[in-house]
Amino acid sequence: MWDGERLDLQELPEPRPGPGEAVLEVLAAGLCHSDLSLMARGRTGLSYDLPTVFGHEAAGRVLETGDGVDPGLIGTEVAVLGPRGCGSCRACRADAQQYCAHARARGLFSIGIGRDGALAERLLAPAATDLVPLDGLAASEAAPLTDAGLTTYSVTELVEPALRPGASVLVIGAGGGLGHLAVQWLLTHDVEVVALEQSATGQALLRELGVETVARDASELEALRHRTPDGAGASVVIDLVGTQATVELATTWLAQGGHLAIVGLGGGLLPVGLGSVPYGATIHTPYWGSRGQLERVLAAGRDGVVRPTVTEYAFEDVPAAYDDLRHGRVVGRAVVRPVGD
Ligand SMILES: [Zn+2]
Ligand SMILES: [Zn+2]
Repeated sequence: MWDGERLDLQELPEPRPGPGEAVLEVLAAGLCHSDLSLMARGRTGLSYDLPTVFGHEAAGRVLETGDGVDPGLIGTEVAVLGPRGCGSCRACRADAQQYCAHARARGLFSIGIGRDGALAERLLAPAATDLVPLDGLAASEAAPLTDAGLTTYSVTELVEPALRPGASVLVIGAGGGLGHLAVQWLLTHDVEVVALEQSATGQALLRELGVETVARDASELEALRHRTPDGAGASVVIDLVGTQATVELATTWLAQGGHLAIVGLGGGLLPVGLGSVPYGATIHTPYWGSRGQLERVLAAGRDGVVRPTVTEYAFEDVPAAYDDLRHGRVVGRAVVRPVGD
């Protein structure tokens, strides 16, 4: 539980499902960099009440269902689609509930981001319609796929028109929880992945995944520019860090007509206008992903198309895990299993 200053373990009342809801036994929960961003805002910088339970990547077993929910779900293992939707606006009807027109105004908070999340033995899932069956996928792999996997997958769908054979794709922050999955999606295309990754842990992981071009910093990266088609830069730049320095670097690396996706919550701002970004550029600011996309992501996980690298931590070691995450020491995604097997 996070009170705005510290994390600790607390006994909470058993959640009971209301209409449309379900209670899960949490089999696996992933730790995300965005939790660190929320923690950095302290006691007063959040738009919702504290204390709160983090954990927006969740896989679990359905224990109890509320009114209007098929009780046949009880006992099944599911992943939770994080972004909430009203179910009736144009975006929701078009399988894009992550961009729901009403979610914010109606206070439809996601698990772990405004309402209690998955770093607990029990999770109250606010919408049973947002549960996707695991169908045999291991919970510890499914959890990271619900955000790290889903967000990066949704990016590759957005930039797909530029993923032509031989294209260069620069991934900034490529060796982290999101990055190592972004790279795996990209390697399913016939493109050259250029990775920028500061941490030694991340660099080693990238090499294991078959990424040959890994730069440690901006100057090493610059020395690789000649490897892009015509030395003109990357057709796609995916910035998983999103600081001022990285969004500026991303712009200098973007080829004309290219696609830039700013994904990391580093708070960097990019002036967009003629002359400040390459001609013909498309800038994306994606958020999470849709149910249809999560179904495709979990299927890819089952088929072995992507495989999250998971570092498991004991539930009581969550504070140490966040510390490792903060210092770039986590290999792949940090996952806890509050209930175990
Ligand atoms: Zn996240
Ligand atoms: Zn909606």
